Amino acid sequence: MSALKKLRFDNRFTRSLPSDGLEGSGSRQVVGACYSRVEPAVVRNPQLVALSLETSELLGIAPNEIRQQEFVEVLAGNYPLAGMDTHAACYGGHQFGHWAGQLGDGRAIALGEVLDVNGRHQMLQLKGAGPTPYSRSADGLAVLRSSIREFLCSEAMHHLGVPTTRALSLVTTGEEVTRDMLYNGNPRPEPGAIVCRVAPSFVRFGNFEIFAARGDHETLKQLADFTVATEFPEIENDDPDRYVALLRQVAERTADMIVEWLRVGFVHGVMNTDNMSILGLTIDYGPYGWLDNYDPDWTPNTTDAQNRRYRFGNQPAIAQWNLVQLANALFPLVEKVEPLQEALGHYLHRFENGWSQMMAKKLGLPTLDTPRDKTMAEDALAVLQTAETDMTIFWRELSGVNCDESIEKSVRVEPLMTAVYGRDGLSEDQKVIFTDFADNWAARQRELGADDEQRRVSMNAVNPRYVLRNYMAQLAIEQAEQGDGALVEELLDLLRSPYTEQTGRDHYYALRPDWARTKVGCSQLSCSS
Ligand code: AMP
Ligand code: MG
Repeated sequence: MSALKKLRFDNRFTRSLPSDGLEGSGSRQVVGACYSRVEPAVVRNPQLVALSLETSELLGIAPNEIRQQEFVEVLAGNYPLAGMDTHAACYGGHQFGHWAGQLGDGRAIALGEVLDVNGRHQMLQLKGAGPTPYSRSADGLAVLRSSIREFLCSEAMHHLGVPTTRALSLVTTGEEVTRDMLYNGNPRPEPGAIVCRVAPSFVRFGNFEIFAARGDHETLKQLADFTVATEFPEIENDDPDRYVALLRQVAERTADMIVEWLRVGFVHGVMNTDNMSILGLTIDYGPYGWLDNYDPDWTPNTTDAQNRRYRFGNQPAIAQWNLVQLANALFPLVEKVEPLQEALGHYLHRFENGWSQMMAKKLGLPTLDTPRDKTMAEDALAVLQTAETDMTIFWRELSGVNCDESIEKSVRVEPLMTAVYGRDGLSEDQKVIFTDFADNWAARQRELGADDEQRRVSMNAVNPRYVLRNYMAQLAIEQAEQGDGALVEELLDLLRSPYTEQTGRDHYYALRPDWARTKVGCSQLSCSS
């Protein structure tokens, strides 16, 4: 049987929800509808650059079947299959704190929902597949640079254990797309590309906001009921309090996601409400970045350089702000403030508990319940900011710190010092801060009396050895733009097992090279993609 026939479509979203009465991809305001039917643009010469083995397995298709040209054509949007219902969703959003009106899938075209090997619905979506009614004045396309970043990062996040949308494939289109990468008057042609994203639902907070903003409570209710029925089995469809229950669930899932971002050092970069998934998945990989040196004030997004609204350490507060917007959007269905406020309250509670548990695990402690252990967590973050210190290496090396009482202080602290950028320039005071921390931590571990090896294994399961450092993605992009996809493949493979030490790959477990410190694409990214 052809692999194409293995895709069993069951399009609940388009079947159950109201559609735009108009056809075609002309830009317009779409009212009273959750989506518009639209066809992907045909592209000249689609070539598969990379494929996620795990995502293909999830869909029940063998990788060599996906590599067949007929399947590549499907993944480029060139070849409609029976059962597909191609469409773009209507949503709005708050961008950088301000209501932005209708946004919608301006360059993402969903093919439809397929059943995965577990019987769960998965929406397949082609990002960069051409204009839609939501494209406004933009072209509906995506470039290779940003597509590699989305493809690699969503799979890396999955393997790190962070909730995320997935990526099945990355194809180049054989066409050029012009972009002004830094918005500074230097447009250049770049290779066009399409990522096939996969998630049970791509519904965002903004899908609800647009109907509330327009006073379209009927469509709002339809979308909310559909979301509860299809994605939240724990909520009864006829529960009179179902919209409040929905908000609480979304708040809790969002809190869990943010805790995971903080654990691994991920900065989303554009936490607008149109980029917040109703399932608590990391979604829309644009100018995101990874902390090399731990700096809670850092954001990679040059578009946000002034206010740094979406900086690493502000993400928990922004998620809450975004949830308030979702609560406002659901208000017309509830018409009471208190229950919504109560549901929102679960965000902070869940976040604080989750953060404590996460930090305890990173430190190899059972909990942070005692003031002393809580202080240890705060100390760890303070030590990380004493001097420029690599977050990933610091946490990973902590598990290797020797806890024996007899060990010389300067020997004990040595693993942590390997995480410091420019360690030769440290002052004596700075060194003492590191040394004291290592000593305190070791003393606490001696008291707890756990087996050293067991502790190391459990700490290494939450402190990754490899993350998608910004410069690594950039190197892969530069090679791929020259037609060589080998590094994309290599990074995809590396990040498949981020917690496991991999032979021959020590250079990926190293301080960020100096050249990458201020390089465009490594430390500075714009929304241009
Ligand atoms: P983003 O900042 O990438 O989350 O995008 C915000 C909005 O702009 C979404 O509605 C996108 O679909 C839309 N958008 C971004 N880039 C393009 C593009 N090249 N063509 C059409 N729409 C776009
Ligand atoms: Mg977006």
